[in-house]
Amino acid sequence: MVHRVKSSLLYLCVLSGPLRPLWLKFCTPYAYCGCVTNPPAMKEAHHAPPLEAVYRALLREFGPQHWWPGRTRLEICVGAILTQNTAWTNVEHAIRNLRRARALNLTTLHTASLPQLAEWIRPAGCFNVKARRLRAFTGLVADRFGGSLDKLLALPAAELRATLLAVHGIGPETADSMVLYAAGQPVFVVDAYARRFLHRHGWVGARATYDEVAELFTACLPPDAQLFNEYHALIVALGKTFCRPRPLCDKCPLTGMGMRPEAKAEGGSCRRNVAMVC
Ligand code: SF4
Repeated sequence: MVHRVKSSLLYLCVLSGPLRPLWLKFCTPYAYCGCVTNPPAMKEAHHAPPLEAVYRALLREFGPQHWWPGRTRLEICVGAILTQNTAWTNVEHAIRNLRRARALNLTTLHTASLPQLAEWIRPAGCFNVKARRLRAFTGLVADRFGGSLDKLLALPAAELRATLLAVHGIGPETADSMVLYAAGQPVFVVDAYARRFLHRHGWVGARATYDEVAELFTACLPPDAQLFNEYHALIVALGKTFCRPRPLCDKCPLTGMGMRPEAKAEGGSCRRNVAMVC
């Protein structure tokens, strides 16, 4: 409760405009410890993550990422469903098929036969499952919002998220991708890359839930969709470049940040830290 009140006051200050640069400049890891006194995901972790310092380091390393790939809001929603358990390049092939068949519109996606829909999206893998999920999503738009995606995406963030989560095959990451990238509302998208680097640094426990990890970010950062957009994309870049299944800590901009106390006591490197955690 206390940390929520503190966070709200911090947001008010940050959002008031002139204080934003000061916050960005001086919000140190210690400031984070103050605003996230004991978030749920930290129960098993050793210390709070210096999320602003991490962001700055990643931005310096990779530069702005300009996400999300998608020409329209519908394409973003379709991509969010198709990218489940597959690489984005496969999604691009599937979306190209839909575009070539002039099927990348709500009417066609909702009325085409399921086998046809599955054939178009075949490159994305699990195409029969994903065809049913796409159909469930277009069914939501058609049945409850009169076929208007804009009406669905105009819902307040919490209501939109809950509405999407009630749809067959849409989980938290997919729902949040739609809320953030298609609706432009500030929710944080948590993926496997985020969990991996946070856990390796001892910033979240192995059993932290999706919502607990997301709250780490939303409790400490200003509710800024552009910031969350960029941060998520930078974490993906981190996961693909350095924090891979076999981590490249020596070259990583986050090396040495937030080492577990036992690793520090041993004078261990971040690599040693990773070996201890994983
Ligand atoms: S320093 Fe190592 S463990 Fe940390 S984010 Fe980089 S690669 Fe991952």
